[in-house]
Amino acid sequence: GPRIGVLALQGDVPEHVAALAGVGARPLVVRREAELDACDALVLPGGESTTMVRLLRIFDLLGPLRARIAGGLPVLGTCAGMILLADRVLDGERGQETVGGLDVTVRRNAFGRQVDSFEGSVTMAGVPGRLPAVFIRAPWVEEAGPGVDVLARVDAGPGVGRIVAVRQGPLLATSFHPEVGEGPDAWRVHRYFAEQVVPDPAGARRRDP
Ligand code: GLN
Repeated sequence: GPRIGVLALQGDVPEHVAALAGVGARPLVVRREAELDACDALVLPGGESTTMVRLLRIFDLLGPLRARIAGGLPVLGTCAGMILLADRVLDGERGQETVGGLDVTVRRNAFGRQVDSFEGSVTMAGVPGRLPAVFIRAPWVEEAGPGVDVLARVDAGPGVGRIVAVRQGPLLATSFHPEVGEGPDAWRVHRYFAEQVVPDPAGARRRDP
C-alpha cells in the first residue's frame, strides 16, 4: 500500500494511524520534513486548527507542506484538518492563517454552541452505504469554488443541507471524524482516500488495456 503520513503535531493521530493500517496503507507519523518527504499522501487530523498552524510554523513544516500540496500531494483533512486545507476561514481567529490549497470557504465551529458535538449520518459520493458521522465543534463548507466537488451534505438535524465533505483533485476534506469507530466498515473514507485519491502507479498499469 501507499505510504500515508499523519501529521502528528497535535490532535487525534493514533485513530488515523489505525484506520490507515486497517485499509492496507502504510501509515507514518509526520513531525519533521524528512518524514513529510517520505510520504505518498498525508492526513491532517482533527484537533485545533490554530494550534496546528502555529506548530507547523515552529516545526518548519508550513512551507514544505505548502510546496508538497502545490506539487499535487494527496491530502485528507478532517475537521481541523479541513480548516487547515481551506483557502478561506470564517469565524476564525482574526486573520487566521491556513495551509491552503482547497478552494473553499469554511466556517469554524459552524454548528454552534448548543450542538457542540453530535453524531449524525451522511451519504458520501464514492463511498458505499451510509456513514456514521461524528461532528466535534466541526466546521462546514460555506462556499466551494467551481473546481470543487461536493461529496456530502448534512441530511438531517443541525446544519441540514450544509456541505460536510469535498474533493478537489488530490485534496479531500470532511467536517466529521471518519477515523472513529473500528473495523473495515468504519474506515470507508480512509479506503476511498487510499484507493481513489492516492495515485497507485501499479494499479494504473493494471487498468490499462
Ligand atoms: N473547532 C476546531 C478548530 O477550529 C476543530 C474541531 C475538531 O477538529 N474536532 O480547529
